[in-house]
Amino acid sequence: TADVSHAQPLSSQVGGHAGVLSTEDGSLIIKPALHRELEFYQHLTTNDGFADLIHYVPKFLGTLQLQGKVDTTETEIAHAETERDGDVAVVTNVEAHVEVQKESIVLENISHTFLKPNILDIKLGTVLYAYDASEEKKARMEKTARETTSFETGVRLTGFQVYDNTTSVPINTPKSYGKSIKPSDLPDGISNFFPLPSPGATPNQGLPPHLLLPILHNLLADIQEIREVLSKIEMRMAGGSLLIVYEADWERAEEGIKKFGLTTKGREVDFDEEEEEDSDAEDSDENENKVGPPYSVKLIDFAHTFITPGEGPDPGVLVGVDTTLALLKGRIEQVTQAS
Ligand code: ADP
Ligand code: MN
Repeated sequence: TADVSHAQPLSSQVGGHAGVLSTEDGSLIIKPALHRELEFYQHLTTNDGFADLIHYVPKFLGTLQLQGKVDTTETEIAHAETERDGDVAVVTNVEAHVEVQKESIVLENISHTFLKPNILDIKLGTVLYAYDASEEKKARMEKTARETTSFETGVRLTGFQVYDNTTSVPINTPKSYGKSIKPSDLPDGISNFFPLPSPGATPNQGLPPHLLLPILHNLLADIQEIREVLSKIEMRMAGGSLLIVYEADWERAEEGIKKFGLTTKGREVDFDEEEEEDSDAEDSDENENKVGPPYSVKLIDFAHTFITPGEGPDPGVLVGVDTTLALLKGRIEQVTQAS
């Protein structure tokens, strides 16, 4: 069970609308949900055709009714606790409340197991509106797509944070950057998220090649698998993202790479394996200090995703995934040459 009674704003949010909260221990996030997004997560757990995708989305733990307004200090949630129940988790003991209620979904916080998470949100797709959007919104979103990298490449760098090695403080690149660049600038954007250390410079960010390369190669392989899965799923995902996280702390990254046997050829230990082993570990402090995988990649944000049987995979999303794969390959080449 996880305590969700003292939620706070998610400090590591790199994109999207304000209002994403995390539990006090940081293990879960609580996101105000459009009904569409909740339906999508429920669909995933109940439809065989979507089983392969579950591995590549945050764990879904259930829903919550937030009491009153979400403000920037602290949000009271009526005596709610999440309780795992097989694959689908249910939230119990949520008291009915007379005040305005806002439905939220509870998800695993992807960055929780990292000491210093470098986080990138890549918005996928060439079409950024759902079919049920108003004509006015469709026109507006189409204009946005055409004025940014989305229309041509199927990706937009929504936002990212990268730790400074000297100060141990994350440096945020806001959405204005990703919105302003051209397709030809995307490789620079990716280098900015996966920088190589420059001793003496301010800021000095990134992992040395011997740590970055195994991470990049495994990330590439995972995104290739995500592409496979997406190519067999009939849906339209507007405004969804790939959320990429990797460990910025050199020591911790090295420990994770060793623990999971990451090489430039793949990995020896499955990321899920450890979880089962430790499922009865009660001590949360112990869990917090546990070395997790040195990177993670998940699809997030299904607020405008529709299941569309018979319509085939989302072509614009696949374009975006292919662009991401090409960018990663390009970065791998650069880093390999530098090493
Ligand atoms: P929005 O509809 O506001 O775009 P998103 O689902 O994209 O909502 O979430 C906004 C931001 O919150 C993301 O860019 C990311 O930084 C953070 N976030 C969302 N889901 C998770 C998660 N499961 N784990 C960690 N961070 C998350
Ligand atoms: Mn988003």
